[in-house]
Amino acid sequence: MTLECEICGSTAGPLRRSRVEGVAMMLCPKCANLGIPLGEPMPVGPGPRRPPARLDIIELREEWPQTLRRAREARGLTLEALARSLQEREGLLRKVERGELVPEEPLRLKLERALGVRLTEGGE
Ligand SMILES: [Zn+2]
Repeated sequence: MTLECEICGSTAGPLRRSRVEGVAMMLCPKCANLGIPLGEPMPVGPGPRRPPARLDIIELREEWPQTLRRAREARGLTLEALARSLQEREGLLRKVERGELVPEEPLRLKLERALGVRLTEGGE
């Protein structure tokens, strides 16, 4: 790779990355003023998308399905209304209330917040 300015061919350098009309080029200081200076080269491709899975097991209270249902009923909420306000599926919440499905942390936190209950053991 020759270190020449991609506009004027000058080797006077140091060359800088600049964007000229949407194209990134290596330019001498003089020509760099014609474009928009670029910082460090962009990293190629997306980074890792998913954080590592959480492996810590969270203990739920033994009675958590009943806790959920009672708290919801105490607020006069139907499953449908609760599902809508949480933007979750009603069928999913029904399974959770029946204890057929243990809610993952994001859903558990949403339920706890919406209903003002705690489903986990310890600390009050
Ligand atoms: Zn130049």
